[in-house]
Amino acid sequence: MLAIQKSKGAESEWYHNALITYIDKKNFGGVSLGMFIFINKNTDGDKLHDVKIHEYGHTVQSLILGPLWLFVIALPSVIWCNTPRFVKMRKENGVSYYRAYCEGWSNECGAWATKERFLTPELINRGRYGKPMYPNRSARKDIKGRKRSK
Ligand SMILES: [Zn+2]
Repeated sequence: MLAIQKSKGAESEWYHNALITYIDKKNFGGVSLGMFIFINKNTDGDKLHDVKIHEYGHTVQSLILGPLWLFVIALPSVIWCNTPRFVKMRKENGVSYYRAYCEGWSNECGAWATKERFLTPELINRGRYGKPMYPNRSARKDIKGRKRSK
């Protein structure tokens, strides 16, 4: 109990050289601004584990892109996340949030940089641009369309 209380009281922590701050804000998941990451403090368990990797992916993207990050990632991401048209499209057509290049790429960057694996079904099944993050190797085909032998 004490441990839970203590960890709930933590307002920020270091995560792979980025600073995560937990904030109490309704309808807010997370956002990354360079080395500063903000995550909803009510997120926990596997979900929190995956949000951290995802948001850290945006941090990696900003290191790769520099100032271009704002136009290539941040603005498209904010539009994809908040525009009612896209919210409706995701809901009604069952389109994954990670289908957008900026979000799917963030998952790849985060997983690569942290060496962590995603744990929640949505990330595992649709985290790579709407497709599985970890496709079964044996189900993949080689360059000539043959099934892999191992
Ligand atoms: Zn994102």
